[in-house]
Amino acid sequence: MIAGALCLDFVNTLDDRFSSEPKELLKSYIDLARFGEDTGILTAGQVDRLFQGSYTSPQAAKEALSSAIRLREAIYAVFVAILNKKPVPAPALLTLNQYVQSAAQHAQLAPAQPGGVKPRFEWRFDFLPIGFDAPLWPIARSAAELLASDDLQFVRACASATCQWFFLDTSKNHRRRWCDMTKCGNRAKFRRFYNRKRRAST
Ligand SMILES: [Zn+2]
Repeated sequence: MIAGALCLDFVNTLDDRFSSEPKELLKSYIDLARFGEDTGILTAGQVDRLFQGSYTSPQAAKEALSSAIRLREAIYAVFVAILNKKPVPAPALLTLNQYVQSAAQHAQLAPAQPGGVKPRFEWRFDFLPIGFDAPLWPIARSAAELLASDDLQFVRACASATCQWFFLDTSKNHRRRWCDMTKCGNRAKFRRFYNRKRRAST
C-alpha cells in the first residue's frame, strides 16, 4: 500500500486504468477482504469470518463486491475531477455521500490507543457481527476525511502515463511525481537513460 490514504489505495485496485485492458484487482469478494487485511482495516480473524461467509452466502458476497466497486468508481470520479480542476460530477458525489452516511451509522468514538502524550479519541467501526459491507465504511470515511482536509491539494496521479495510480504527496516540497520511486520512478529514469544512450550512439 503506497498511496498514503486508504481511499486512494482503494482507487488503485483498478490497475492500468488508462490502458485498453485495465486490470481488475478485486475479482472476487475474497480480494476485497484481503485488501481489508493488507490495509489494516480488518484483523486476520475478521477476514477469516468474511471468507467463510462468502462461501456460505456467495450471492450476498457478490453484491457487496459490486457495491465496493460502485464506491471505488465514485471516489475515482470525484478525485479525478479535482485533479483535472473540473467540477465534481454530482452523481459521483451523491453515491459517495450515501456510503459516507452508512459508514457514519456504524462509527463510534473510542479513546485512541494509549502511548501519545496528548489525550485523543478516534473513530472506530462496530464490526460486530462483521458483515460483507464492513470494509467499505473505513474506505468511505477515508475519502470523506481527505476531501474535507487541507491535504486534498496534495492528491496526485502518478506521472507514468501507463500507471496513473493516485497517491497523497506527503513529501516536504510536495514535488513527488511517482506512485512508487522503486517502480514507476526507476522505470522513467531507466527510459531517460536508455534514450540518451540511443541518441548518443546514432
Ligand atoms: Zn506509478
